[in-house]
Amino acid sequence: MNNKHVISRRDFMRGAGATLVYAATGAGSAMASNIRSFSNLSGESSKNVLILGAGLAGLAAAYELDKAGFSVTVLEARSRPGGRVRTLRDPFADGLYAEMGAEYVDAHDEYAHKYCKEFGLKVLTAKLYDAIFVRGQRFKMDSFKQNKEKLPFKGTVGGELFGQEKKYLKRILNMIKDPEKLPAEILKFDNLSAAELLLQEGAPQDIINLYNYLNATERTVRADQMSALSLIRSHAKTSFFDEQTDEGRILGGNDQLPKAFARALSGKILYQRPVRKIAHDKNSAEVWFEEGGKVQSIRTPWLVVAIPFSVLREIEIKPEFSPAKMKCIRELAYGQVMKIAMQYKKRFWDEKESLGQRVFTDTHLRRIYHMSIDQPGPRGILMSFTAADDAEMLGKLSEKERLKIALQEASKVWPEAPKFWEGGVTKYWNEDPWVKGSYSLSGVGQARDFLELARTAEGLIHFAGEHTTNESSMNGAIKSGVRVSEAIKKAAT
Ligand SMILES: Cc1cc2nc3c(=O)[nH]c(=O)nc-3n(C[C@H](O)[C@H](O)[C@H](O)COP(=O)(O)OP(=O)(O)OC[C@H]3O[C@@H](n4cnc5c(N)ncnc54)[C@H](O)[C@@H]3O)c2cc1C
Repeated sequence: MNNKHVISRRDFMRGAGATLVYAATGAGSAMASNIRSFSNLSGESSKNVLILGAGLAGLAAAYELDKAGFSVTVLEARSRPGGRVRTLRDPFADGLYAEMGAEYVDAHDEYAHKYCKEFGLKVLTAKLYDAIFVRGQRFKMDSFKQNKEKLPFKGTVGGELFGQEKKYLKRILNMIKDPEKLPAEILKFDNLSAAELLLQEGAPQDIINLYNYLNATERTVRADQMSALSLIRSHAKTSFFDEQTDEGRILGGNDQLPKAFARALSGKILYQRPVRKIAHDKNSAEVWFEEGGKVQSIRTPWLVVAIPFSVLREIEIKPEFSPAKMKCIRELAYGQVMKIAMQYKKRFWDEKESLGQRVFTDTHLRRIYHMSIDQPGPRGILMSFTAADDAEMLGKLSEKERLKIALQEASKVWPEAPKFWEGGVTKYWNEDPWVKGSYSLSGVGQARDFLELARTAEGLIHFAGEHTTNESSMNGAIKSGVRVSEAIKKAAT
């Protein structure tokens, strides 16, 4: 990348008292004709905002600022909005679709519900998990609970799936009076992994093994990669993700939500503009990005960075932000995740004798469920959400090999699967250049102050994205975009 011309152009523009800068460089570019004037660059009073990333966080920030009369421009590396909200339609027959990224909107996801309502989208309640397949044993959820059957894992309580580790945390949870104000002796557990803490508190290894398939799978890591403090916090909260969590999905596909935001913003989103460099001083920021093989730059009084830290850490930042912020950007942990959508000619999982339609497993596919439950049949899609070591293992294989294993693993739960198999598609988010991971989580040593560091502004530069919330969800992403829009509105008045 050659930024020389851009910098000199910017300096020239400054010297000439010009205001906006949108300059192009690269072979054959006619510099003067490529400069577009957006606005005045007059520091905090200016109403111009540049937003990096058209995921739900960037879109929500842009949407709210646009409504408030700001002039917004969004730079997005891909040719579509939505980032990790990715509904795939083309690979499937009969108009079927599959959520290859974000899928569930929980009942308490107020921001996601609010904007779905605003854009006329309906959220349908999803089916709860109805079966368990672990260590080769099959349990129907109803009888498992009723008869208090025990999972084949040492140290577990009968009739329960999630939360088996809680009894080993009793001593620690009893030390907490107010979950919002954790005492120092609890905060220090940030230096231990969840696995280390459980072992220390007397849990058998099997409890950790089981946890790896339960909440650690939701977090897309292993228990030995997570902060013990985040495990404690999750149990100190009133709500805890478990088999009863009330989840929903947007009828017709989750991509409708980012598309609705994007439609409202129309020409203000510039696609296929990967950002390569951010420079800043106390009055403005300048962002370099690629556009049709050339490097361009825009100078802006307000900047919202709504791209994952897993990507931001590879973007040049000049001068670097505060040391604590840079540490957070460079080290914030992300997990490993893959989704596998499998198309079958017949929905054998709906048959009476089937183990279930939504099954927790300890196979390489982990969670397997009827993706197309609210779509017309007779064909259907079984979805796998697999994470951590299994996602990593599958991620090293070719698409063909991944699908071969997917069919083998699905056949363990539903032996008739090969008879109806029509093919599938995988999405390994760690190999996606614009995410390079699943979503953020608290690694060992990161649960104490990384969240605050991630969300704190650096001068005129604001940060949005799921990683600036404690939710790792569509709701969290939208909420962060709204938060940033409020902060800019307030500061600009
Ligand atoms: C497999 C999977 C399953 C999930 N399941 C759920 C779920 O069931 N429910 C739920 O609520 N959430 C779920 N999530 C999480 C949810 O997808 C995210 O929390 C949310 O979508 C993140 O939004 P964001 O705007 O913060 O980031 P992103 O969606 O990642 O958006 C960031 C945007 O920045 C762009 N970008 C990146 N780098 C650059 C660059 N250099 N220049 C310009 N643009 C750039 C990206 O292309 C992207 O569009 C899941 C995520 C995954 C991966």
